Amino acid sequence: MNTPELLQYDKEHIWHPYTSTTNPLPVYMVEKAERCTIHLSSGETLIDGMSSWWAAVHGYNHPVLNHAIEAQLKNMSHIMFGGFSHKPAVELAQKLINMTPEPLQKVFFSDSGSVAVEVSMKMALQYWHSKKESQKVKFATIRNGYHGDTWHAMSVCDPNTGMHNIFNGRLPIHFFIDQPTSRFDEELAKEDFISLTHLFKNHHKEMAAFILEPIVQGAGGMWFYSPDYLKKLRELCNKYNVLLIADEIATGFGRTGELFACNHADISPDIMCLGKAITGGYMSFAATLATNDVADTISNGNPGVFMHGPTFMGNPLACATANASIDLLLQSQWQTRVQHIESKLSDGLASCKKLEVVKEVRCLGAIGVVELTHPVDMAVIQKAFVEKGVWVRPFGKLVYLMPPFIITDDELDKLCAAMYQVIYETMEVETEVSI
Ligand SMILES: *Cc1c(COP(=O)(O)O)cnc(C)c1O
Repeated sequence: MNTPELLQYDKEHIWHPYTSTTNPLPVYMVEKAERCTIHLSSGETLIDGMSSWWAAVHGYNHPVLNHAIEAQLKNMSHIMFGGFSHKPAVELAQKLINMTPEPLQKVFFSDSGSVAVEVSMKMALQYWHSKKESQKVKFATIRNGYHGDTWHAMSVCDPNTGMHNIFNGRLPIHFFIDQPTSRFDEELAKEDFISLTHLFKNHHKEMAAFILEPIVQGAGGMWFYSPDYLKKLRELCNKYNVLLIADEIATGFGRTGELFACNHADISPDIMCLGKAITGGYMSFAATLATNDVADTISNGNPGVFMHGPTFMGNPLACATANASIDLLLQSQWQTRVQHIESKLSDGLASCKKLEVVKEVRCLGAIGVVELTHPVDMAVIQKAFVEKGVWVRPFGKLVYLMPPFIITDDELDKLCAAMYQVIYETMEVETEVSI
């Protein structure tokens, strides 16, 4: 099949993320990718502004990661984790335990972020089951969160922008409080304090855990909030006997300027979910870390085991790649890099503030967000970005960049320039006309 035939077959038979099969948005056929360049089959090249959704922190086709995977392939690509273990898994567990907050001492490997979230929620439920506190079965969270597309993960996503509308009445009901209003560089706002304390006072008896994305809410709104909020939350969880689950699937491995977003507040959750960048974007893999208290309580209860065990648990290829990716990250000047990207994004996106259609520009770590006053037309804006030679994939009112950490200044300049031009050309002109 040639490229048009491949695209036609794709259009007729393949689902892409959140798309229709009868009226799908166009897709672009990719031939290969290296460093921060995506090569399309059409011969065009794009500068990557997305890291394939937070994942490809070292860029594409990295020789060190390629080597790690090839070397592991010669030993075994997979072996069941029931009854067996292997060096890549043990080494990875050790790295994760050493780099995350000290209280996290146990690791559960799984195949994707959503599964890591399911595992974390199941751990929380089994924890209270073991403690014979069977009334603690609900989860609390903040609005505008995103935790994945599987069933229970979906139940703690934002009730309006998430999928509650469609599955209304079928998803378990949890407690939602407003998204924090306290900005990243601010102290805890009074209304945040009130909504948090109110929730815990009234509902702690039913709450198994509070789950949230620390500091940066990703797919639910690209919102940055105050470390004080996390500190307060940790305090309340301790005071009222509620577990704290930090979903660091998007924020983990340096993206926000700290290795993990919890570090901004210097707190440790009881359970932490990791995914996305864990393998440097090479393959789907995730981990759920827990404290000894969580793990021991589950193990001392009934049935005395944690009831989960995916077929591809601890996949050796993924573990070997994750080990190489984490080594690369820790051996690099990642923090300096991320700070540098933050200042480049702040400078480069500042001009967008001049546009009528732009509500706010905010940057944290290697994340640059331009929030618009109204939603983009995906088909139009995506095409305009591709024509400018960059890969940016907005959603709703949010146009944002989260490039690989290895991106060059020149590439960043081009990405930022394209953001301004494309928003101007596709949104601003249109607004002027409609006025
Ligand atoms: C992407 C994401 C998930 C889901 O991970 P998948 O690998 O897509 O299943 C969960 N939580 C957060 C915060 C995420 O960004």
